Amino acid sequence: MKRRELGLHYLQENPYHVKTFDQYPVSLTREDIFHFCQQIRRDIVLSTFSAGSGHPGGSLSATDMMGVLWTSFLNHKPALPSWEDRDYMIYSKGHVSPLIYSLYAETGYFDRTLLASFREFGSPLQGHPAKSKLDCVEVSTGSLGQGLSVAAGIAMGLKQDHKPNHVFALCGDGESQEGQIWEAIMSAAHYHLDNLTLFFDYNNLEIDGWVEDVMGIAPIKDKFEAFNWHTIVIDGHNTDDISKAIQTSLENKNRPTVIIGKTIKGKGVSFMENEADWHGKAPNEEQLNIALQDINREVDEWTH
Ligand SMILES: [Mg+2]
Repeated sequence: MKRRELGLHYLQENPYHVKTFDQYPVSLTREDIFHFCQQIRRDIVLSTFSAGSGHPGGSLSATDMMGVLWTSFLNHKPALPSWEDRDYMIYSKGHVSPLIYSLYAETGYFDRTLLASFREFGSPLQGHPAKSKLDCVEVSTGSLGQGLSVAAGIAMGLKQDHKPNHVFALCGDGESQEGQIWEAIMSAAHYHLDNLTLFFDYNNLEIDGWVEDVMGIAPIKDKFEAFNWHTIVIDGHNTDDISKAIQTSLENKNRPTVIIGKTIKGKGVSFMENEADWHGKAPNEEQLNIALQDINREVDEWTH
C-alpha cells in the first residue's frame, strides 16, 4: 500500500477519540491535557509518514506548550476561525506544520483524516501553513525570523484599538539567529506590548546540529531580560508549569512576556529525541510503528 493510503488507514483505524468543543478555552484535567498532547504526537508522526517528508522534531518539542495553550487558554471557535474576539497564534517557526494542522484537527477545525493529505499537491495542508490554502491559518509563515514581527504588529494594532485579544507567538531557538527576531523583540518592549506572549522552544537543536555549535544564542534568558521582556523559564514539557507561565503572562503589565520552554527535540518518540537528523525527515512504516508504540506506552504508564 502506498504511504498516503496507509497513512489514511492508520488515521481511520486509530481514532483515539479526543473530545472537541464549540469554543475554547475549556477547563480540562491534567490527564485530559496529557491525552490531548499524546494525540497530537500521534498525528505528527502519522501526517509526516503519509507525506514522506515534513518536520517532526520541532513539532514534537513544542507539542506540550501548544497543547496547553490551545485547550486551556487560547480564545477560539473552530467553526468561526475569523471570530473577532479570538486570540491570535502566530507560528514564527512555520515548518512545524505537522503540529499546527494536528492542533486544528483535534480541536475540530477539520476532520483528522485530512492529515493524510499533508504536503500533497493541491491539499490545504501545505508544507508550510498558507492562508491562501487554509482559512484558519492566521498568517502564512515558514520564512524564518518573520513571524514574531507580524505578531508584534498585530499586538500593537489591537492595543491602539483598545481590544482585549491576546497575541501568542512561537519561535525556535535556531530561528533566533535571524536578526529580524531581535528587531521584533526590541520594538515589542519599546511599545510595551503586554498583550504579546512569545513561546521560545529551546530544544538546543536546529537543522544543522546543536544551536551552540552553529551560532550560540546563550545566555538567552539574560538577553530577553536586557531587552526588557518579562522572562519566564520553564520545563516546556511540564503542563502544570506551562499553565502557570501562560496565566502569569496574561496578568503581566507594561511589557511583553517570553516563556522560554526548555524542551527536547523529538520529545516522546525514542529514536527522534535529541537527534538533529529528525528536524526534517519522515519515519518509514517500521519507524512509525515504533513511534506509535512509544506514544502509547506513555499513555499506558500514565493510566496504570
Ligand atoms: Mg531548535
